[in-house]
Amino acid sequence: MVQTASREARGPLTQAFFDRIAAVAEGEKLKACIQCGICSGSCPLGFAMQYPPRRLIASLRAGVMEQVLQSNTPWLCVACYTCTARCPSAVGITDMLFPAMREALLMQGVGVPGELQTALENTFRHGNPLGEPPSKRADWIQEVDVPVTDLSADPREVDILWLVECYPAYHVRAKETVKALARTLHALGADFGVLGQEERCVGDSQRLVGENGLFEMLVEENGKTLDRFQFRQIIVTDPHAYNALKNEYPKYGVNYPVQHYTQYLASRLEELRPMLGELNHTITFHDPCYLGRRNGEYEAPRQLIQAIPGVTFVEMERNRENGLCCGGGGGGMWLDSFAYEYAKERLSEKRVREAARTGADVMAVCCPNDLLRFEDAVKVVGLEGKLVVKDIIELIDEARKG
Ligand code: SF4
Ligand code: SF4
Repeated sequence: MVQTASREARGPLTQAFFDRIAAVAEGEKLKACIQCGICSGSCPLGFAMQYPPRRLIASLRAGVMEQVLQSNTPWLCVACYTCTARCPSAVGITDMLFPAMREALLMQGVGVPGELQTALENTFRHGNPLGEPPSKRADWIQEVDVPVTDLSADPREVDILWLVECYPAYHVRAKETVKALARTLHALGADFGVLGQEERCVGDSQRLVGENGLFEMLVEENGKTLDRFQFRQIIVTDPHAYNALKNEYPKYGVNYPVQHYTQYLASRLEELRPMLGELNHTITFHDPCYLGRRNGEYEAPRQLIQAIPGVTFVEMERNRENGLCCGGGGGGMWLDSFAYEYAKERLSEKRVREAARTGADVMAVCCPNDLLRFEDAVKVVGLEGKLVVKDIIELIDEARKG
């Protein structure tokens, strides 16, 4: 374990932090930090943090961790993974260091922003951060004009189990993407079903905000639910769910083949392509952190956009592994006011300005956080009428009808 200058000087927060670090194998990697500063220089919110990552680790070594834990730093990370991807010493800043700090604060009940507490309580009580009743999770099925099997009512064997996730299932705007995907899967003749009221949040953002107990509870519940159904593979609407099912659930023995919906559709592109009519748009694409930088999938979304006839595709200056985060990951969706107080500008606002500079009239996304945050940002920065935010599945659905 990393030693601080004076173990006796540890306050209760620091002790809780070190207990967590000691419990994870990656904790040892903190020793490998060479203080190069690449993490701090790369962090899109480092300028607003009282202790950006390099300074944070230096403070930990100097035995002044209690100040760090009481600063704004633990709640400003949006888990964009840039620091971790670039760190030459493979220090687990995103998955280990920040969640451990947050877990210490949650356990001691110190300084936890209210909006985050609400999302966590909602997840615990209702199985989703929005606080919506599970009985309404599949209401969107009534609003779509193709048949969708709700496996909670009709538990038959299917080829594809589609985990819709929380914002897409409940949020009035994000629901449009779900309906578009249902229509496209139906057009492809896919044999798919959803879990309906039996689905619960996959919980990746709850893990990253340090609520490891809640995450483990969700893994156990979801694992038991998945075990009761027969299917060949899972597809997900949300890259955060993709990340959790691919990288975290297997650590607990819940191990199923999973694809993000763009990967699934890209694998069926030769059947999809003849269905697509022309769309006359100039489109740029925002890589979601948890599909791209965290999991290395950059091609599937681009293949889908570029398969639409009539589309001119343009890249933003920062793209692929260098793409700027929307600010909604790692609990950022539930820490928006807190981050704004210190940063004075949302990352989503910076990002839509970057998108507009390409000359594109459409900013394509494939993550529900991106859709909701960028649509708001377009209004805030005055780009309405110039830039429209659409999920890739909405573009595919539009082209299919066109
Ligand atoms: S990038 Fe890695 S090695 Fe460099 S200061 Fe940050 S944590 Fe340390
Ligand atoms: S994950 Fe992103 S936001 Fe968090 S510390 Fe690293 S670079 Fe900063």
